[in-house]
Parts: sequence; structure tokens; C-alpha cells
Amino acid sequence: MPKQILKAYKIRLYPNEEQQIFFAKSFGCTRFIWNRMLSDKIDHYNEHKTELKNTPAQYKKEFEWLKEVDSLALANVQQNLRAAYSTFFKSGFGFPKFKKKGQRDSYTTNNQKGTVAVTNNTVKLPKIGHINAKFPNKINGLIKSATISKTPSGKYYASLLVETVVEVLPKTGSNIGLDLGLTDFIVLSDGTKVANPKFLSKLQDRLTREQKILAKRTAVAKADQRKLSDSRNYQKQKIKVAKVYEKITNTRKDFLHKLSFNLIKNHDVIAVEDLNIKGMVKNKKLAKAISDSSWSTFTTMLNYKAEWYGKALIKVDRWYPSSKTCSGCGHLLTKAELPLQVRSWSCPSCQQKNDRDINASINILNEGLKLATLKTVGATGLA
Ligand SMILES: [Zn+2]
Repeated sequence: MPKQILKAYKIRLYPNEEQQIFFAKSFGCTRFIWNRMLSDKIDHYNEHKTELKNTPAQYKKEFEWLKEVDSLALANVQQNLRAAYSTFFKSGFGFPKFKKKGQRDSYTTNNQKGTVAVTNNTVKLPKIGHINAKFPNKINGLIKSATISKTPSGKYYASLLVETVVEVLPKTGSNIGLDLGLTDFIVLSDGTKVANPKFLSKLQDRLTREQKILAKRTAVAKADQRKLSDSRNYQKQKIKVAKVYEKITNTRKDFLHKLSFNLIKNHDVIAVEDLNIKGMVKNKKLAKAISDSSWSTFTTMLNYKAEWYGKALIKVDRWYPSSKTCSGCGHLLTKAELPLQVRSWSCPSCQQKNDRDINASINILNEGLKLATLKTVGATGLA
């Protein structure tokens, strides 16, 4: 059964010099208009205690160069700023921040009847035309918007949001629970342990090495009383660090995409623990393992892929004692009986041998299936 979805495609761009200048201008103008509108809003609020409803058009008279860039890019800034404000007013935290040059340089434009389009080897954008590009996948469907960005190592990307169609995957009759492992990335209720890929830890070692060199070059520049922006060795090394970092991010994402797709393809119900990552990262011992393994990115992927492909992702309450409960008989250990370093235990009640992580993932699956049944019964009851 086909299903309509919005999918983002990330495409590497190879702009020529003129196009690079246009992008730099666009990043600069969107950053300028964001910062200017934000500071005017703050000033207005301090004076009048009401929100200033400003628009990019109001600034075009005073700053004529704003007309040189895509006006939709500026309109999107206004929308993003409004969204940031409303998030802040709803939640009470995360007040919009000023943007700095070189940090997430990007702008977004919309497709208006073909103003954004793709050919075999180019992406067409408003005001600048065709940019050479390399496509990892074929793009089918209606392009809604394009976000152009430049990474700290100097690579350009277009992220195209495309209205496309996916086929719902066939049911397999198999369900699975998964737990975040400490040494492994995840542990499945069928006993499979999925390790963090080796190449990731190799890249991480490389990152540490390159960062040490960067720290040395910072020290040298300081000793010579040179600005970092004037130190060529420092700048070269900074790009090297950024490149390794980007490689890690991309490789990790790739790994998570493949893994989440395989789980969705092979199972109908996937049960996971709804972890409180912020609370856990405060615990220093766990911090590296958790941030490395990108649990929240992974569950986000599982979530939308389950929806796309007609499967179910069930989140089990994070207070559910999945580690301390025996999956054989339901016997509950106390916290003192199961300290973190204990990797396997024998149940005092039924004598079942429990691998800590596999046992937890079996419990997560059972609890998840219970919740899934409740949901189904609830839905039928209402009908
Ligand atoms: Zn037991």
C-alpha cells in the first residue's frame, strides 16, 4: 500500500566561485536579519512590554543589499524566529539566541512552481540557477523546500524536503524489544548484541589525536601573541578537526539508518525504553557511552520509519524496572542486589540465568506488547 510522506535528501553541492560568493552573502543576510529582528524585538519589549511584529521587508530600505539575496530565505528567517518565540513562550525556556558567523551557516528557500528543481547532476535554486551536485539517491516527488548549508570544513550541502511515496512493508509476525547496551550499542530480546561499529571508535581516536594537535597550535599562537585567525597552522588544523568530526557524524548516521531500517523491516512491533538522556548524561560514567551511541537520534529514526512503513514503535516508561525484573518469573531484585557492574545474574526465585541486557530487552518487549494490546483494545472499545 503506498503512503505519502515528507522525506529529506541531503545532497553534496559543488558551487563555483561566483555561487560560493552568493551563498556567503545569503548566509550573511539571513544571519543579519535574524540578529537584527531579534534585537529590535528585545528592545521593543523592554520599552513597551509588547511583542514587536517586524518583517524583513521593513529592513530592505535601510539595508539595500538585502535585496541581493533570495527573499524567501529572509521570509523563512521571520518564520523561524516566530516559531522560536512561540516555543519559548510555551515552554518558558530556550529564548532565541543570536547567530554567529561560521556556526551552522545555512538558509532555507521554498519551491514555487519549479524554482527549486533537480537534473541528473545539478540542483537549481532561485536567483543563482544550477549548482553542480552529487546525488546519493534518485529523487522522486515534489520538492517543497531546500536548505543550503556549509560545514565548518567548507563542504556545501542542500537538504531537499520532498513529498514522496513509500510502500508499506509486509508484516513479518515477529516482535522485538531492545535495550541500550553499555558496551554494545543495543541488545535485542532475541539475544543479538549489536556492537558500536569499530570504524567509529577508530575515527574517535583520530579525532582525539587531531584535537591535541589543535590545542598545541593554540598554545603556540598564544605564546607568539598571534591571533588565532592569523595563525595559518592553527586554521589548517581546525579544518582537519572539523573534517574528522563531520566524518564521524556522517558515518554514525549511516550506521543508525541501516540498523533502524533493518529492525523495522524484520519486525512488526519494536519496543524501546523511553530513556531520560539528559538525566543519564549527568552520570559521568555513562556519559560517553550514551552520547556516542546516539540513542535519541536512533529512536527518532525508528519512530518515523515505523510510521512510514506501517509498523509500531512502542515506548516503555523509563521507570519500568526492566533490568531488575527476572524475565522468567517476574521476581524483582532490589537496587542493591543489582549494581551497575553486574552483567549477569541468577534469579533467586526461579534460578534462571539472566544476561543483564538481554533480560532487560525481553522485559521491554513484554511490557511493550502489553501496552500495544491495551492501545488496540482501547481503540476498539471507543469505536
Ligand atoms: Zn526468575
